[in-house]
Amino acid sequence: MGRSPDGLSRRWAGKAALLLPTIAAIAAVAAEGPARAGGRAAAPPGVGAVDDARLRAADSEPQNWLTHGRTFSEQRYSPLARIHTGNVSHLVRVWSFETGLRRGHEATPLVVDGVMFVTGPWSVVFALDARTGELLWRHDPQVDRRVGQRACCDVVNRGVAVYRGRVFVGVLDGRLQALDAATGKLLYEVQTADPARDYTITGAPRVVKGRVIIGNGGAEYGVRGYVSAYDAETGRLLWRTYTVPGNPAEGFESPALERAARTWRGRWWELGGGGTVWDSMAYDPELDLLYVGTGNGSPWNRELRSPGGGDNLYLSSILALDPDDGRLVWHYQTTPGDTWDFTATQHLILADLEIGGVRRPVIMQAPKNGFFYVLDRRTGELLSADPYVQVTWADGVDLGTGRPRERPEARYRGGLTLVRPTPFGGHNWQPMSFSPRTGLVYIPAQEVLGAYAPASRFEPRPGHFNTGTDLSVFAALTREFARGHLLAWDPVARREVWRHPYAIPWNGGTLATGGDLVFQGTADGRFLAFDARTGRLLFEAHTGSGVVAAPITYEAGGTQYVTVVAGWGGAFALVGGDAAADGRAAPGRVLTFALFEAPVTPELVREALEGRPASTRAGDDAYHVHCARCHGVGAVSAGVIADLRESYRRSPASFAAVVAGGLPDRGMPAFGEVLSADEIAAIEAYVAARAAD
Ligand code: CA
Repeated sequence: MGRSPDGLSRRWAGKAALLLPTIAAIAAVAAEGPARAGGRAAAPPGVGAVDDARLRAADSEPQNWLTHGRTFSEQRYSPLARIHTGNVSHLVRVWSFETGLRRGHEATPLVVDGVMFVTGPWSVVFALDARTGELLWRHDPQVDRRVGQRACCDVVNRGVAVYRGRVFVGVLDGRLQALDAATGKLLYEVQTADPARDYTITGAPRVVKGRVIIGNGGAEYGVRGYVSAYDAETGRLLWRTYTVPGNPAEGFESPALERAARTWRGRWWELGGGGTVWDSMAYDPELDLLYVGTGNGSPWNRELRSPGGGDNLYLSSILALDPDDGRLVWHYQTTPGDTWDFTATQHLILADLEIGGVRRPVIMQAPKNGFFYVLDRRTGELLSADPYVQVTWADGVDLGTGRPRERPEARYRGGLTLVRPTPFGGHNWQPMSFSPRTGLVYIPAQEVLGAYAPASRFEPRPGHFNTGTDLSVFAALTREFARGHLLAWDPVARREVWRHPYAIPWNGGTLATGGDLVFQGTADGRFLAFDARTGRLLFEAHTGSGVVAAPITYEAGGTQYVTVVAGWGGAFALVGGDAAADGRAAPGRVLTFALFEAPVTPELVREALEGRPASTRAGDDAYHVHCARCHGVGAVSAGVIADLRESYRRSPASFAAVVAGGLPDRGMPAFGEVLSADEIAAIEAYVAARAAD
């Protein structure tokens, strides 16, 4: 297309996508080039003026998506309902933005007053015009690529926090950066982890009461987990809470860690211990409690980490912290004495549920270990725990003691043992969502057959995987043993309501809306919408790359938009081998959809026709009379018959001869008697221009 975005409105570009696919291409914005002559548009002044009051009341701003899970409750439910079960099939892509980066794109975008803030691999941050996808600024923290080696699960980033005109990003190499929301300029950065240790940051910060809360990962590499709070204004460290005890000889940082140390044996501190806070957080402003999930032990195998056993607090736990000082208020350990990489860093959702006739403030989690937990978030009291996927490591959870009824053989002391779920989890980091309208939780669930065996010899090696298990058992992982599904789970009735199956695991996070829809992207490169109550598939679009991130929705100028970041990658995509081979890898894109609403008027069609380049107009017309009925409008083939742009690129010299003489063996007619040499030359010029476009 030779037209500038200004020549044809982006709005029309999106709406015309179904009729004239080539026109939609003008809405795509290259990552690097200036978006328009004269330079990039600037972010509006004062953008990102998000304060505590707005964050607390984020639910009352459905046009925005102010914090990672939209609200502090992290429900990932939007009340927006212009797009609903009755019209979602009319969604079209209205813009896309190419990040120019390969590898996993796991970000949840934020939308603040018309500006979208989104991240890509290597912690690169983009600010986009939320209506058009136009690039406003880009910030690359310039991560030393050697840091990638200590990222267990790809060099991903899950998003930013916005607060008082600043954008906060956790950088893969352990820095926390504060950027100017209007320009992307670096205001300050602090090192939140010892660069000499194998810490990484992939999770999104949250801002609670002026404190930027940030965790980190690295348990596979032998680190000690913690979560930190920084003053958003100055970057000063306010508190740091370790999740596992250090060397008792050096004293404990808190009574909670002194108690925890009694559940460990041996010299665990030399191995790090693990328990990293690498993803999930939620906050209850009424209770003033900050919730974080902690990860697996370091190394995985408890026999090596804590010889002689023990629960190893606070691994694989949900922790309720006082956000003012990081003090532990209560804890619930989902997998005592974890030995399977069963992290409890999975998404945490706060909701009020009526259980047994009583309205309870709950916190919900579907951690890797396969049980769906509902706890009273005031006290950590366990209300229910039920298998949401196949579970073989335990026969259930005792609601009296809160402890799993473990199967002894699951600890694989005797050698190779089949266990469900696996290190990939019944559910991994991909966010779930909760609709207060349906009362259901929508979980990106998966079933991956796993086997564990103790490592024949174990010697911790800094900078490398230290699991203490024999990972060669993964050699048996094939596509026959790996499936994913979208699971609608009733947390009150404690049962599955519906599911939608996928051929492979590692599909995207979910979004629930007031239009009674659930949106999810898939590993094989599709973006889907379902009836939230029945699971009926209502909408499907292709994304070009597998989707692992979670969608969001927002509103601008009376239009509801739905955005999802596509970019296949992350742990399973890297390690899954044959089982992950059907995932689609391509450079990342931010894709935004809206309803195809406006009627197509004769004026709009005329405008599109007149917008075609004059230099190839004659060939363009002749092509559409003689060629388009088989080879497609705009020389774009849907793949049934040859795409002439491809044919021309492959052998431009023979193009005219084939048109004139045909290819009788393949059913291509000879046009030599119908078209003059001049007409064939004009068609060739048109196809050549399209091939070069
Ligand atoms: Ca892990």
